[in-house]
Amino acid sequence: MTMRDHVTADVVNVCFHGVGTPGQGLDAEAAGYFVSRDVFLAVLDELMKYPAASLSFDDGYASDVEIALPALLERGLSASFFPLAGSLGRPGHVSGAGLRALAGAGMTVGSHGMRHRSWRRLDAESGHEEFTLARSMIAEAAGAAVLTAACPFGAYDRRVLTTLRGQGYAQVFTSDRRRARAGGWLQPRYSVRRDDTPRSVRDDILAPRPARERMRGAAAARVKAWR
Ligand SMILES: [Zn+2]
Repeated sequence: MTMRDHVTADVVNVCFHGVGTPGQGLDAEAAGYFVSRDVFLAVLDELMKYPAASLSFDDGYASDVEIALPALLERGLSASFFPLAGSLGRPGHVSGAGLRALAGAGMTVGSHGMRHRSWRRLDAESGHEEFTLARSMIAEAAGAAVLTAACPFGAYDRRVLTTLRGQGYAQVFTSDRRRARAGGWLQPRYSVRRDDTPRSVRDDILAPRPARERMRGAAAARVKAWR
């Protein structure tokens, strides 16, 4: 293993969305990221074997508090949650009280913005909503400072990253399906999808990647950060 491998192969960020049955009115793309409760619990048990795995939950579904929180606590795990400020308390979504419960249980609560739209090419007013207003709404509901953000659809470019840096976000999470450097400002993640199983998570996400594949992923992310 080279020095470079040590630097780039530290953390495997695994991202969940909803757990259980998708609520009515959820679009097909979002439903494609829901996993059943049984698969979720089995994947959590698998993840416990990998100390490098780090967990997060996007989109702020009700299952964050109803299913994920007790399952995490039972296993002594912690995770980051990235809810949408504009969906707090809506049917099927986590409430402000739920965010407080997550933060109170030692979970990290970050921001996924206001309305789940791409953060690329926002005008000034939308940018204010997504980066500033959403953050303060989530912080107020959670009763904790919001220091991290996750980009909706994993979409970002140089302007998005510059804005997030300027606003003092301590870490930004993407969905680039590659490993992250521990403590790095930009944290790529692997999203778990509806058809995943503990085995596919082990083989496709947790198993060590060939060096060539890792370098390809790093090059692709550099292009996204600089376009
Ligand atoms: Zn999302």
